[in-house]
Amino acid sequence: MTTTGRRRTEPLDAGFPFGPNSHEQNPPDIIIRSSDLLDFYAHKQILSFGSPFFRHMLAFPEPTGQNANPTKNGLSIVALPEKSGTLGPALSLLYPRQVQPAEIVGGMSPVEIKLDTFESIYEACRKYDVAGYHDILVTTLAEPRFLEDDAHLVFVIACNLRLHPIACNAAIRTLKSPITDRPSPYLRSAPGNTFWQLQDFKYAVARELKMLLKTYAAGAPVSDMGPEYDHVWWAPNGHAEFCGPSEPDRDDAYAEVEPAAWFQDHIGRIEDVCFLRPDPEHIARCLVELHGPQLADISECRMCMDDAAENLTQLSGWFEKTANKRIKALASSYTFGCL
Ligand SMILES: [Zn+2]
Repeated sequence: MTTTGRRRTEPLDAGFPFGPNSHEQNPPDIIIRSSDLLDFYAHKQILSFGSPFFRHMLAFPEPTGQNANPTKNGLSIVALPEKSGTLGPALSLLYPRQVQPAEIVGGMSPVEIKLDTFESIYEACRKYDVAGYHDILVTTLAEPRFLEDDAHLVFVIACNLRLHPIACNAAIRTLKSPITDRPSPYLRSAPGNTFWQLQDFKYAVARELKMLLKTYAAGAPVSDMGPEYDHVWWAPNGHAEFCGPSEPDRDDAYAEVEPAAWFQDHIGRIEDVCFLRPDPEHIARCLVELHGPQLADISECRMCMDDAAENLTQLSGWFEKTANKRIKALASSYTFGCL
């Protein structure tokens, strides 16, 4: 069944669990018709049980004579203004979970909650007063599949529905796409300062990651050098000529040591990456990959050649852990979804 590019002119029956024969033991007794002419075969008792809206509507005696509802297969048809992609999932929330298909093979489920219709489903559930809809839909929106699908859209929806924790998670997930990408069309249509807040967050993350990287290559007084300086680029002895850390003035107790030049160059190059793509996972990968000039530099030094890869891998692990923690804290300091 497809309606792509064509408007339906004849009503069609919905598939499971809202087809005319979906529940042989419990035949339907009413048809709910969507504005795009999909007929959902439903049960008055279930609709009434889960929704005060339907309870009131169905409590009225059915109009007769000229005003009588149209019927099909002997069942009254109630036409509602929502489209099938909105109505199906909203109705399905009224039904027990076990009558909903876990997975429809070879076709679109009429009850599948999709990201691009999420807000209209939420609105319909609010309008029809579907019991427990808020919690069910919030849990659904937080599913990883939606973040993987389109984190920007999840962000916009979460902001619109005032869901701060989900908006924070989605904002973090958007860091995976380059900062210079054209904003998603959803973001451009989002209200108020949603877009600018997200851009501001991305640049704040970029600055935070750059600062963190800087600390790895910053000079340090010998007296302050704890176990975190136990990397080959800080090792005082054993390097080839022109390699290794700077030699501090022995007469100055506070003199700073700088790490090997190749390491400083390596970190400097990655600092620039933060403003293109402030994604900790991506930057952690960059940390372990040495590029042309730095590779040429360390190839002159046997000790750096032997230890750099392992030491950089360790540093990259530290970086990713610290970065993720700081980004989480940063995201929750924003008022995403609170305005
Ligand atoms: Zn070296």
